[in-house]
Amino acid sequence: MIIKPRVKDYLCLTAHPEGCKKNVEDQIAYVKAQGEIPGDAKKVLVIGCSTGYGLASRIVAAFGCHADTLGIMFERPSNGRKTASPGWYNTASFEQFANEEGVYAKTINGDAFSKEIKNLTIETIKKDLGKVDLVVYSLAAPRRTTPDGVTYRSVLKTTGEEFTNKNLNLKDNSIGMKSIPAATEEEVEATVKVMGGEDWKLWMQALKDADVLSEDASTVAYSYIGSELTYPIYFEGTIGAAKKHLHQTADEITKEVGVKALISVNKGLVTQASAAIPIVPLYMSVLYKVMKENNVHEGCIEQIERLFKEKRLLADTITDEHGWVRMDDLELRDDIQDEVKKRWEEINTDNVSELADVDGYWEDFYRMFGFKEEGIDYEAETDPVVEIPSIKE
Ligand code: NAD
Repeated sequence: MIIKPRVKDYLCLTAHPEGCKKNVEDQIAYVKAQGEIPGDAKKVLVIGCSTGYGLASRIVAAFGCHADTLGIMFERPSNGRKTASPGWYNTASFEQFANEEGVYAKTINGDAFSKEIKNLTIETIKKDLGKVDLVVYSLAAPRRTTPDGVTYRSVLKTTGEEFTNKNLNLKDNSIGMKSIPAATEEEVEATVKVMGGEDWKLWMQALKDADVLSEDASTVAYSYIGSELTYPIYFEGTIGAAKKHLHQTADEITKEVGVKALISVNKGLVTQASAAIPIVPLYMSVLYKVMKENNVHEGCIEQIERLFKEKRLLADTITDEHGWVRMDDLELRDDIQDEVKKRWEEINTDNVSELADVDGYWEDFYRMFGFKEEGIDYEAETDPVVEIPSIKE
């Protein structure tokens, strides 16, 4: 089939296998060009391994540390009529490149929140790897069924009172106002159930109990705090409540499970998870422009490579007073935030292309789905059915 983007709001319903492959290849090339990463992580489990920060983590582990990686994801293969999801294509290419490099790469496709997938992961580690020394927790999910069978859905709302602010209208790149309702207490709790730390702790306890963690194993989960501009929708919103729970869970895992648990507070970037949050795409467009003008812009792969190397994720990690790794150090630099806030006041439909990098937003958006990559013939007949070497469906 000829695969074209079919964009619906903040989602693209199609993905291009060749474009996704190019995206993975570029990330691998970036990591290789940065050279060796010091430290010892030879066997790595990445939960949420197929897109965004998790995919970047898997690429840095495999191609920066030469680590064997086992990845967990929840992705859709193609049925021949519809394309697969981008994470499926990314993973197929990742495994292919890892196999060529001679590093082990296997992937489990299923619900990471379930007991079955945890058990299957443990079995696979026992069979293939023995033990793992790093667990990256990079899930972004809209819903979770807990072990007692209750399904919770996360919501992207503010807390306290309704919040209204400027917003990028993704249909025509105009600037409008967007009101975000306040969540009920139940909605906050549900979001914490899905995106808080409970499942991370269940994973770490299960891995520890099954004796599949090496003696000095550690784990890292990704968080976001962001600018005061987005506090009402992010850090002081439902998702922020979940992130605060995740932060507490890191301490619990360290103390109660006995595994060093770190939080890495990352930069705001366009991913499938973040594009869905209202107001955030406009903030990211302004941020991209200011960070690019100051030569400090980074994507997922640059962030994670720097997390492993400069912040020394694997040993003697550099953290702040809370024990968090601050990968948002450049985003939150005073001069960057002052300029973003100034532009935020001024921005409107007429000056949006001058003050914000809306093109950069869309470039990242399309690339996530394998579109608008250089050197790919998008008019060519392309088979949407692609196999992931380690998964036979
Ligand atoms: P993403 O949507 O690109 O990736 C989510 C991953 O989770 C995918 O691999 C997907 O397959 C997997 N997944 C989702 N539901 C699953 C399930 N039930 N079982 C197994 N796998 C499942 O998201 P992302 O933006 O890379 O986010 C990853 C983490 O990084 C999140 O915790 C997010 O809050 C955090 N973070 C994101 C940003 C940002 O701006 N994007 C910034 C800082 C921190």
